[in-house]
Amino acid sequence: MPSNAQCGPGFDRAVHMMNIEQLHRLIADHDIRLIRAMYVGPDGISRGKAVTPSGVDSMLASGLGLTQAQASVTVFDVLPPTSHYQPIGEVRLVPDPQTFQIMPYLPGHARLLADLYTLGGQPWELCPRSLLRRVVGSLTERGFTIRAAFENEFTLYAQPGDRWVPFADYNCFGSAGIDQASPFALAAIEALEAQDVHVEKFFTEAGPGQLEIPVRHQPGMRAADQQVVFRETVRGVALAQGYRLSFMPKAYPDSAGNGCHIHLSLWDQDSRNVFYAQAQEYELSSIGRQFVAGILAHTDGLLAFTAPTCNSYKRFVERSWSSCYTGWGPDNREATVRVVSSFAHDREATLNLEYRPADPTCNPYLALSALIIAGLDGIDRELDPGPATLTDPALLSPDERKKHGLLPYPTDLSAALAALERDELLCAEMGAARVRDYLTMKRAEIDAIAALGRDGERLAYQFRF
Ligand code: GLU
Ligand code: MG
Repeated sequence: MPSNAQCGPGFDRAVHMMNIEQLHRLIADHDIRLIRAMYVGPDGISRGKAVTPSGVDSMLASGLGLTQAQASVTVFDVLPPTSHYQPIGEVRLVPDPQTFQIMPYLPGHARLLADLYTLGGQPWELCPRSLLRRVVGSLTERGFTIRAAFENEFTLYAQPGDRWVPFADYNCFGSAGIDQASPFALAAIEALEAQDVHVEKFFTEAGPGQLEIPVRHQPGMRAADQQVVFRETVRGVALAQGYRLSFMPKAYPDSAGNGCHIHLSLWDQDSRNVFYAQAQEYELSSIGRQFVAGILAHTDGLLAFTAPTCNSYKRFVERSWSSCYTGWGPDNREATVRVVSSFAHDREATLNLEYRPADPTCNPYLALSALIIAGLDGIDRELDPGPATLTDPALLSPDERKKHGLLPYPTDLSAALAALERDELLCAEMGAARVRDYLTMKRAEIDAIAALGRDGERLAYQFRF
């Protein structure tokens, strides 16, 4: 894979030329016919345009054209009339050569992940990747790097008759389910590994046709990029095998939802995990506690980015392992933040925080940026998260929950957007222009969904992400 490349206008020509050469060799050797430049819209949808090999040089040099309004369209491709951006105005989709990957599940195709630049060559105010780069930069200024992993659950569908239905029914972690899912699982793992995504585990989850493939953590930007590659790859492998795959958070009220827990740890310049402190409670350091407290102080606003669809809020049901009250605890899977117990072979490296109220419809750049902003606020203000929750909050009475500060999450996307609007830090750090457009776009999505019934909502979201 090409390395050391810069992207966007103002790049170092010599480095860039070398990578163009490498790219062309890979494209020729693998008979690649279409090369996609992709970004993830604020709506969470992975989008892009593809060029033929003859278009690669100009795409890398000056990007592809994209209407600014594209960043304001809803998941249903509707541009709200109240959006700031309308069909006038242009940005450039500029691929990052370091992200070049041949798509092993779709012969003839390769992809690059792209940033959005203004015509003048500056990162555009609504570019999700540029935001994460800036937020990761503020970590670097404090001497930290972050490692993150997105832990996706999803549902595999087959079409035995005229309807798409979960491809099988089995038990959570059931061995029989691993047998049934094997052809898909092995192909997905092979395709992920071929793109440098290290797969750690594979198992069946609690819902019909529900699967999980945890992957290894990566430093900030690579973790978010990896999440795009992950979603693209498992969906593509499913399609190639005659299945369809859904990341919808809660397709059926009585079945388990699809979460995408986000694992986080903070590292210093000496490669020490600063969340780890062997002698402290739950092996969580003071900085780790502050980071947790920051997340808890901003949870309601964070949800607007980590649980970003109308359907996301149907996942937050008591005793569904999704969490639905703001709290934290050691290995508490009904808490907003679970302190993940360390493993004996390397306690320092394995201690991490798991943020649970995220689902795979989130834009990984926005979700990770927002989490870092919240966690850093906890560190900057030396916040304390209060006592850990050692029980399932659903088993406490409302009075007991209140006493322990276990507050229910916003009941729907509309309430989460209102919480975001009230969260001055998130609004400022995510960017006023971005939040303004995000609120407009998401409120249009809420209106569109309100016009549909329960089945309509399922059909509208089911295979969109
Ligand atoms: N499916 C659950 C969720 O919606 C998570 C189950 C688990 O703990 O892995 O988050
Ligand atoms: Mg799971």
